[in-house]
Amino acid sequence: MTDLPRPPGCDLLLVGGRVIDPASGTDALLDVAITGDRITAVGNALPRQAARRVVDVAGSIVTPGLIDLHAHVYRHFTDFGVEADDAGINAGCTTIVDQGSAGAWTFDGFKAFVVDRARTEVLLFISTNLTGTLRGCRGGPVCQTPELSDVDVLARFAARFPEIIRGVKGHSDSGGWSHWGKRMFEISRACADATGLPLYVHTGELWKVDETHRPEPRSVMRDTLALVRPGDLLAHCYSCRDDGILGPQARPSQDLLDALATGVLLDLGHGVNFSFHTARRMMDAQLIPYTISSDVHGDFYTHDNDTTLDYSLLGAMSKMLALGFEPGYVIRATTLNPATVLRMQSEIGTLATGSRADVSVLDAVAGPWTWRDGLGQTLAGHVRLVPRLVVRKGTLHVPTRRLLRDVTRPWERLAA
Ligand SMILES: [Zn+2]
Repeated sequence: MTDLPRPPGCDLLLVGGRVIDPASGTDALLDVAITGDRITAVGNALPRQAARRVVDVAGSIVTPGLIDLHAHVYRHFTDFGVEADDAGINAGCTTIVDQGSAGAWTFDGFKAFVVDRARTEVLLFISTNLTGTLRGCRGGPVCQTPELSDVDVLARFAARFPEIIRGVKGHSDSGGWSHWGKRMFEISRACADATGLPLYVHTGELWKVDETHRPEPRSVMRDTLALVRPGDLLAHCYSCRDDGILGPQARPSQDLLDALATGVLLDLGHGVNFSFHTARRMMDAQLIPYTISSDVHGDFYTHDNDTTLDYSLLGAMSKMLALGFEPGYVIRATTLNPATVLRMQSEIGTLATGSRADVSVLDAVAGPWTWRDGLGQTLAGHVRLVPRLVVRKGTLHVPTRRLLRDVTRPWERLAA
């Protein structure tokens, strides 16, 4: 008599969920096996008896760990940063990317007090400005000046910390162009070129404008497009701002269509200016974001205050569903696509065997729900995505949902 091969054991087995993994084209009821910090199998009816822990996730959606490509989590240093884990695992995300809160001079604190302490994976698109963003964009001098920028210093930090610094954050808005013409954005371009990293471009009026030199709104995007390259990202693609990607126009410019055809990418960057009206006009032209991100941050007008935050990554995904997008696209835009931007698609954004055991388990809660955009416009929906569980490097977490005011009722959130 010969021994039958033993089924391989695992530490954690998620059973019976609807596994949606755009990286492999999977959308089926399957089990996910995890050992240590790795995915070891995805399959039908994997052996339960060989698992140390079995978690029944029937009725839920199981995806690669969600990646929020735009958050602000340098709390206690910038006055509008939120707690990293509140934007991360407690909001259903395993990886979050801070967009420009830290610059080269302020990177060490960001690493020591945010990256090294968070249970969430925190990455950075480093600010073109040496100090990072410090304060919100309201009041006081703006830091985003040519005098406070240094391409060589930034490039040295990017080369020293490649596992954290995955891109460069620049701004192209009426404020910057009114003060410095193209000089500041040219520095952002040079930073991206010097590091070989993608440039993530804030669009839409943000900094205080020098009214004597206010640029014509459409010139801002036209001049921006002349300086972006394939693989760069234009943020806030459904923003209502006049100097934004679409502005008040009915249709996108030929310049924009040409840039996107070369491989320049759009990111949602929900933020405070997300507009259903802009979204519909962009969708009419088939312009949809490659990545969906939140731009979560605290209030710009008060100190260390996240109580006004009323949007999230899960909320942005749910709004995209309400606008008519398919679940498969919405999950691709928060897993595989941002992982590709980060050049980490073999490690995260996938449930492939051997990849990191970062997994999000979501509930699609049915029932009427009213969505709001930054202008107060409403959109009726019938489903909201709510995080149920998160697996981060193999460890199971129950999200508190503390900041998920847009997708939960008060009693569905934990205060912790
Ligand atoms: Zn932002």
